Amino acid sequence: GTPLLEINNLKQYYPIKKGIFSKTVGHVKAVDGLSLQIYPGETLGLVGESGCGKSTTGRAIVQLEKPSEGEIIFDGKNISNFTNREMRSIRTELQIIFQDPYSSLNPRKRIGDLLSEPLLFHKLATPSEAKKKVEDMLEIVGLPKSYRNRYPHEFSGGQRQRIGIARALILNPKLIVCDEPVSALDVSIQAQVLNLLKDLQNEFNLTYLFIGHGLGAVKYISDRIAVMYLGNIVEIAKTEEMFKNPKHPYTLALLNAYPVPNPHLRGRQRIVLEGDVPSPANPPKGCKFHTRCPIAQSKCREEVPVLTGVHHSVACHFPIN
Ligand code: SF4
Ligand code: MG
Repeated sequence: GTPLLEINNLKQYYPIKKGIFSKTVGHVKAVDGLSLQIYPGETLGLVGESGCGKSTTGRAIVQLEKPSEGEIIFDGKNISNFTNREMRSIRTELQIIFQDPYSSLNPRKRIGDLLSEPLLFHKLATPSEAKKKVEDMLEIVGLPKSYRNRYPHEFSGGQRQRIGIARALILNPKLIVCDEPVSALDVSIQAQVLNLLKDLQNEFNLTYLFIGHGLGAVKYISDRIAVMYLGNIVEIAKTEEMFKNPKHPYTLALLNAYPVPNPHLRGRQRIVLEGDVPSPANPPKGCKFHTRCPIAQSKCREEVPVLTGVHHSVACHFPIN
């Protein structure tokens, strides 16, 4: 099929400035030539350690940041060069849910106003229609409609995330970027929110990019998984295939950190990640993972491995099989 979202060679570089003249002395390469497709109705999981560029990718997709380079094609339209006016027409179709919904909710406003604001701003409803829609939406996300009169601080973490979801959903989007939406929640609440996201996906025909740093939630919700390291995708495959047959040493390391015993990994080389992700301001040459890869060879320090493979793609000179 045709992807709903296609990213081609996305780069997001931030200048590093020094001195009294603010001279640019280098760039933080948060996203460094990333390409991927997301198909209608699927959930693509995006995983990797903190600082690998996952959130930056998500923010670029929903146009919270303008990319330094590359194309974002959404629903057949190249939106990377859209003017603000052109963007306004599709902004409702691309929404984001954050890890900490509280920080994105004005504490002085009632939930009803916070939820109706985007509807009124985009002129999608009259005030009375918006009120009705807010009540419906609260019920859809599992909250009583009377809660519209409450303030954000009156809610628990899980309830706030339901409000964050309602706020994204009320605009009837096609694609929602979920940026670690359950990472800050108690484990018992995580499953409820994930199940809510799954139900809403079926009911409203949504497509998700689901960002997570651990594999647990991502495995539960994703149809396919993309593994990201220092600004690039290093492996992408269907969820089951990724767990059965990981090919990139970094993926294997992430799977080894996964607390649930994985019978498929028995007899495989165990890779334990040491140290932190190198700085994206000065990434290693060749394969960016070579400084932490236990099977790196000289070729890895020279040549950048290209993502190859149709159904299961990997960027590694010596993939595991
Ligand atoms: Fe390791 Fe080399 Fe593969 Fe990079 S290309 S992951 S360094 S084996
Ligand atoms: Mg992040």
